[in-house]
Amino acid sequence: MLLERTLAGLESNLARRIKELLEGDGAKVDVQEDDGTSTLTFSYKDQAVPAATGGGVGVPTASAPSTTAWQQLIVALRASSQSPAQKIALLAQCIQESGRGSSALANRYLNFAGIKFKSRMQGYAEPVDYVASDGEDVYCKFASADAFLKGYWHFIESGPYDGWEAHKNDASGYIRHIAPKYAQNEHYRDSVIGLFDEAIDLLSLQDSPSSQGSGDGATTADANTIRLAVVVGHNSKQPGASATTPIGRSEFPFNNDVADAMVAEAGHYNIVAKRFNRVFTGSYSSEIEKVYGEVAQWNPTCAIELHFNSASPDATGTEMLYAPGSGEGRKMALELAEEVKVLLGLTLRHGDGTRPLQAGDRGHSSVVALSVPTVLVEPFFGSNKTDCIKIAACGEASLGRSYLRAVRDWGTA
Ligand SMILES: [Zn+2]
Repeated sequence: MLLERTLAGLESNLARRIKELLEGDGAKVDVQEDDGTSTLTFSYKDQAVPAATGGGVGVPTASAPSTTAWQQLIVALRASSQSPAQKIALLAQCIQESGRGSSALANRYLNFAGIKFKSRMQGYAEPVDYVASDGEDVYCKFASADAFLKGYWHFIESGPYDGWEAHKNDASGYIRHIAPKYAQNEHYRDSVIGLFDEAIDLLSLQDSPSSQGSGDGATTADANTIRLAVVVGHNSKQPGASATTPIGRSEFPFNNDVADAMVAEAGHYNIVAKRFNRVFTGSYSSEIEKVYGEVAQWNPTCAIELHFNSASPDATGTEMLYAPGSGEGRKMALELAEEVKVLLGLTLRHGDGTRPLQAGDRGHSSVVALSVPTVLVEPFFGSNKTDCIKIAACGEASLGRSYLRAVRDWGTA
């Protein structure tokens, strides 16, 4: 865990000043207040913090991270026999743990995932002393990127992660399963899941030599391919409404799974889907502006923002929200309402399950952010037990498929 550092027990004014200072340096900083003291956690997105150990011979400095070990990892990962979901999950962990391959642990010892040495790693790795952000400890040293991959899976198989095999084709399910025992940091799960897109990009970038310089991932797709931006509602710090059992989760984690399933299956619907996550900035309008700025750069055909509703326990039904005056937005909303009706069989609210959002309505700034049709989906009420039983029976992937079918039908109508 070289990338992320924590300072606990700070007086809150001091924590605020350190936060400003670090943010000025480009760090991502989170301050938690508890009983008068503050705990500050920070990490650097594009450049790792300087390695905690002294520089060794031939070890690149943190300001010029080597891409060699990192490239070896990506090549090895692509050639490995793991499922796509396993590769995405593992690479996202490596992005987080090694600061994109820039940590000394990654460069010197090819340990990209902060794996500590245990006797069960004998034969897979050698023990080395290493000073990471959480102090000195004995870590694994691997002979090659391939040896790292073998070692990682042995570490998981032989460790306290029983049941992980059930998630071989479900990257976020896998991370949710292992996170509590893999890392002490309670934000580990959400930060790693938030890196899936980057992992997907890295894995496929190596795939297509034409992707360099073209600036447009759609060059190989035919002209009829729909580019669907999937924006996950809310963010990891403010995860939205929570759903009652048997869903038992809030909007953000639930819809991250829906989005992942959509991205994985989009190809079957002649759609290229990309997931976009909103990042907490402290200001709702800047959060929306930022994510839709990224979406616009990607040049989508259309976008949907994933939510579910919440109100009194007896409120129920499906609704799809669009920008007033957007004819195509309304058409897409109608297709979405119909497909979700087929899946869940809930009441379509407002007659046909669609509603234009007026200025001042919650979600309005999302549906008017782009120049392409954008629909904010509210497929069910998380506050309604019956709605939740129905959605739990179908699962997140089925809901994602309903959205994909609707978008395809809209695009080919
Ligand atoms: Zn919501």
